[in-house]
Amino acid sequence: MKKNIVVIGAGLAGTLICNELVKECHVTLLEVGGKNVIGYPKINFIQKRFANVKTFCVGGGGTTNLWHNGLIPILPQDVISNDFKEVLAEAESFHDKAAANLFWLDNPYSTEYEKVISETNLLAEKIGVFSDGVDCLLYPKKFSKLDVATAVNAHYSVSDIVFSSVDKKITSVSYYIGKKRYSVDADVVIISAGALGSPLLVKKVMSAINCSAVNVGTGLADHPLGFIGKVKVKKSFNRVMKQFSARDQGNYECRTAIRVKSQCGKYTGCAFLRPALTMENNLPIYKFKSLLGASSGADRIKNMFSWKLFHPDILAEIYSHLFRINIPGRIYNILFLFEQKRGKSYVTYDGSGLKVDWRITEDELKIYKRMIQKLNNMLAGIADEVNPKTDITEDWLWSAAHHSGTISLGKKEDDLVDKDLKLNACDNVFVCDGSVIQEHSYANTGLTIGSLAMRLAERVCR
Ligand SMILES: Cc1cc2nc3c(=O)[nH]c(=O)nc-3n(C[C@H](O)[C@H](O)[C@H](O)COP(=O)(O)OP(=O)(O)OC[C@H]3O[C@@H](n4cnc5c(N)ncnc54)[C@H](O)[C@@H]3O)c2cc1C
Repeated sequence: MKKNIVVIGAGLAGTLICNELVKECHVTLLEVGGKNVIGYPKINFIQKRFANVKTFCVGGGGTTNLWHNGLIPILPQDVISNDFKEVLAEAESFHDKAAANLFWLDNPYSTEYEKVISETNLLAEKIGVFSDGVDCLLYPKKFSKLDVATAVNAHYSVSDIVFSSVDKKITSVSYYIGKKRYSVDADVVIISAGALGSPLLVKKVMSAINCSAVNVGTGLADHPLGFIGKVKVKKSFNRVMKQFSARDQGNYECRTAIRVKSQCGKYTGCAFLRPALTMENNLPIYKFKSLLGASSGADRIKNMFSWKLFHPDILAEIYSHLFRINIPGRIYNILFLFEQKRGKSYVTYDGSGLKVDWRITEDELKIYKRMIQKLNNMLAGIADEVNPKTDITEDWLWSAAHHSGTISLGKKEDDLVDKDLKLNACDNVFVCDGSVIQEHSYANTGLTIGSLAMRLAERVCR
């Protein structure tokens, strides 16, 4: 008999899991947002806001409605937790399948990734200063939001999800659509409501099985990112630097990440070089650039009504990024992405909705400042001028929209999921999405979330 699987959340992970499992199981999908419209739940930020742009949304496709589809693995060598390292190593064999489901058209992703990395290493050797190595972020040129297969029994605009249990097993899930209540039997439940949405559902499961839910939602981590300054490359290096920083590869674009390790080796960040026209180090212009880059559709057009649009660096970004035209010159903007470990930041919920307490701690800032200094030292050897700001405040950094870490994974008593992503306290509930990413160095999380989704689908079928 086919298993009844209930998947909650139609975002990146949920959609891939549904589309895979429906080949062998009865799959019911419950999504809080509409099928073809997206909404932005109100967030009450207790401390720092994520960003001036929206960093997640609800609706069919989840945050893939907003994303740029850049694909890069989290390298196990950059991860400290042995349990998560093991999970990542296992997920690696699913990279190609996940990438193929995430609009990757070329040879298998891993073959192409290795090829591009070795080309980039050759260019890096010619430049000769990047002592912590390089990595590559690959952007398929054609992508859209993810869609759920028609065979999936998908329900949108659901609310008030409630779990029923017998012992440590969820037996059915009930929910409302409008004023009508529905219920579906479940052999397996998969929670994929994202790093901000899953903790609420996990709390509900724990309450249904009479378990305490300590630590659910704590450990929120993101990639603090910001433009921190410029570099003017020496004439003799500029031709190779142009090829090194970004390359058109036909169906996809490659952007090179310059890896930067912290002094203690625990944190790994990276810097991207993007063409600019001036050496001006101007935070409001950087913020505007980010606003323009991360917004889309009507929001992007609205943001264009600003005098800042005519700043030479913004025009350079528009030409190079939006219209894919190479900007001449030797000046590059430095976009730095820093790693954050799971700490005290958290998500929680009360009567007024979602509350987020996201912090960049003083200790993290100290580490980041040293990493900027390290990058400055690397670049000094090949530049006429380098001006990144080393004494940044948290105002220089905002969220890269890689919300992670709100569900802990491991063997400790209060860890929530095991290495199979199954809730330790419950026999048949799994969590798979950004929430279970325990560490993410500088890597965008989409490819890893997709690979974990493929790995879980295979295990659930078995
Ligand atoms: C502008 C932007 C650009 C980005 N670019 C990239 C990139 O280039 N590469 C990359 O790897 N990542 C990128 N990301 C991040 C990436 O989109 C997310 O990491 C990824 O979508 C997270 O997947 P997820 O499955 O964890 O959550 P989501 O995709 O957010 O899905 C969660 C789903 O759960 C639903 N949900 C929430 N609560 C409930 C509930 N109670 N009941 C039912 N359903 C619920 C939501 O509506 C949503 O559909 C970008 C993000 C943004 C905002």
